[in-house]
This record gives sequence, C-alpha cells and structure tokens, in this order.
Amino acid sequence: ADLGALIAARVRDVPDYPQPGVVFKDITPLLADAGAFGQVVGAVVAQYGAGAVDKVAGIEARGFILGAPVADRAGAGFVPVRKAGKLPSQVIAASYDLEYGSATIEVHADAFTPGERVLIVDDVLATGGTARAAVELVRRAGATVVGVSVLLELAFLHGRERLDALGGVETRALL
Ligand code: IMP
Repeated sequence: ADLGALIAARVRDVPDYPQPGVVFKDITPLLADAGAFGQVVGAVVAQYGAGAVDKVAGIEARGFILGAPVADRAGAGFVPVRKAGKLPSQVIAASYDLEYGSATIEVHADAFTPGERVLIVDDVLATGGTARAAVELVRRAGATVVGVSVLLELAFLHGRERLDALGGVETRALL
C-alpha cells in the first residue's frame, strides 16, 4: 500500500490538545509500528541521494526520534536542536512564534563545520516557525541547509510558504 495511506492510518487525531480548538496529530501509533516506522525512516533517507547529507539536525523532541535513525541510515551525524537551556556547552539561539505561544531553540555553537550539508527533521510542520528558526540556526552556524523533511505538513497553516520565503530551502513532507 502507499506510504501516505499507511501514515494516515497510524497518526491519531487528538481533539482539543494541547488547548481547546486544536486537533493534535499524535504520531505515537506510527512509532510503535515497526514496519511503518522503518518505512518512514527509509522514505526520508530516499529523498536525498547517498552521501548527500553530512548531518541531520533533529528538532526536540519528536524530531530526535525520527532524525536519529534517518542520520544513521544516511551515514550522517546527528545534531540535536533543543529548547532553551537544555544544551550544556556554548549555544546559539533563535526565538520565534509558534502555534501555541512563543519559544526559543538552541544548537551548540560548534555543532557544524562550515559548508556541511544539513538536513533538518521534525514530525509536524505547522506554522513553520520552528523549522524556520532551525534553518536560521544552521545557517548562522555556517552550514548549508539541504532540506527540511517532516512526516506531516498541516498545509492550511502555510508553513511551507514561510520556509520558501527564506530561499534555498527544499521542504518535503511525507503526508
Ligand atoms: P510550527 O512551529 O507551528 O510549525 O510547529 C511545529 C512544531 O510544533 C514541531 O516541532 C511539532 O513537533 C510541533 N507541533 C505542532 N503541531 C503539532 C501536532 O499537531 N502534532 C505534533 N506536533 C505538533
């Protein structure tokens, strides 16, 4: 069967979470299904050619779960993009507005070497604020963003357009 249909069947809609009126896309049923999880990881890796990515930057927290196996299969290193105050060494930070408030994300200042090709991975692209801030961080660290890959894009929130506005960012969603 087609991967989009498999993902749709394994992502659960949770109404009124984390606040009334929001329908949260819960990917835990997909993660718990070995075959589906493996196919998703394989599909993200296949979006890029062999040897096309030096580092995968996963966005806390579900971007860690998806990004780490993608990095391993792609032969790339993994870099955590974390919420403020979680990384132990020197960081660079970016603040942004998101669907449910505002936030700051950080990456270690020495996480990338100049010119490295970086794939940003997260579970859901909503307004695009988080991914946009991650692109900024990677670029400020001197590396090149080869793409943003997400499992699910909530197209009605137009996150892709906010990423397109940055220029040079290929956004890919499995669903
Ligand atoms: P954005 O910054 O508005 O694009 O929100 C994307 C971030 O919020 C990602 O890190 C997602 O993990 C999280 N997020 C937003 N909506 C959902 C959802 O419905 N399910 C899971 N994560 C979500």
